[in-house]
Amino acid sequence: MVLIDPYGSGNSRSSSGGESRIIRMGYGADEIYTHSAQQALPLWQELMRQINEPLFYETGVLWLAHEDDPYPVKCAETLKKLAIPFEKLSTSEVSRRYPQIGLEQISWALLEPNSGVLMARRAVQAVTRETVRNGGEYLQDAVRSPCGNRQLDHVDTADGRRISAGNYVFACGSWLPKIFPELLGDKVHTTRQEVVFFETADNDPRFVAPSLPTWVDFKDEAYGLPNIEGRGIKIAIDRHGPPFDPDTEMREVTSEGLAETRRYLVRRLPDLENAAVKATEVCQYENTSNGDFLIDRHPEFADVWLVGGGSGHGFKHGPVVGKYVAARIAGSSEGIEPRFSLATKAAEQNRAVY
Ligand SMILES: Cc1cc2nc3c(=O)[nH]c(=O)nc-3n(C[C@H](O)[C@H](O)[C@H](O)COP(=O)(O)OP(=O)(O)OC[C@H]3O[C@@H](n4cnc5c(N)ncnc54)[C@H](O)[C@@H]3O)c2cc1C
Repeated sequence: MVLIDPYGSGNSRSSSGGESRIIRMGYGADEIYTHSAQQALPLWQELMRQINEPLFYETGVLWLAHEDDPYPVKCAETLKKLAIPFEKLSTSEVSRRYPQIGLEQISWALLEPNSGVLMARRAVQAVTRETVRNGGEYLQDAVRSPCGNRQLDHVDTADGRRISAGNYVFACGSWLPKIFPELLGDKVHTTRQEVVFFETADNDPRFVAPSLPTWVDFKDEAYGLPNIEGRGIKIAIDRHGPPFDPDTEMREVTSEGLAETRRYLVRRLPDLENAAVKATEVCQYENTSNGDFLIDRHPEFADVWLVGGGSGHGFKHGPVVGKYVAARIAGSSEGIEPRFSLATKAAEQNRAVY
């Protein structure tokens, strides 16, 4: 196996190069993703044991439910169906357990006690290291768009390499439409997303898990992570930003974005009103039309696989996506998910999976 990446494993231009990513089981009524997250967590934990490095923190994930929000209700139904542990908490119970959380407009909450946070960049680098340790090769180079048809004989790289393989997996996130402009130019939309880490004085224990869980505020289009490894409270707005070029554009947060993030921080953690900004990240979502993954064979090449469309929620599923692709390449037709097909990907944006 040869892994190729022009910017390096876990690089800061990639979506997976962020500090941390939530792994939660709740996906509303979307059972396929709940099931996938359920399968993925033990696989991440296995990798963590293998390399003996903290890649996952069981912070718990708390869904803050607004009165008129059906999404957490659907999450609870799906979790119950798949026998995934969760608790329903009244606002008074949330206040008792987490007095530092502001509950304005919240009417109840759902806690996934076994979910939490993956250390994304480190996890990607660990996967690369383990691949090499197991006999694979890693090259820092850029694969050029393939040409020809039916069967790909080789790929060329920017540094002049020619690489032949049995199968070619293009898991290139928001670069997929650049590599396959005709096929995917209007099917994967890259949007600019901002993340802010806020300082908590002296690593205040009230803002470290388990005193503070990761939380998701679906209706407010925002989420937050406790202070993990001293990085500060992470806040992000989960609304699609403007179109973004992952190669060339500046990765500085805007003053409007920072102000909105701080307003949200103060709404949910009012004691952090004056918290200093500790770090920021500008990353990109690689969105399909509705948020479903794209995992399919290239229509013109029998040995080329298109893998991506994480759409702001893909990281947690990495090990399951890997197994799914391996099964497709091995010729298995068991468990094929029609929603991942290229045929279902439209040009217009209509986000339905979160
Ligand atoms: C701010 C933010 C928050 C998120 N939060 C979560 C979350 O909490 N939970 C969650 O599960 N998901 C989350 N996501 C989504 C998740 O991070 C992505 O879906 C996932 O990381 C995508 O992985 P990927 O490997 O498909 O793409 P990427 O990680 O972008 O990797 C693509 C790689 O392709 C490489 N590449 C580019 N061109 C070439 C070429 N020519 N040849 C070879 N390689 C090439 C790039 O260098 C890059 O490393 C979030 C995303 C963002 C931006």
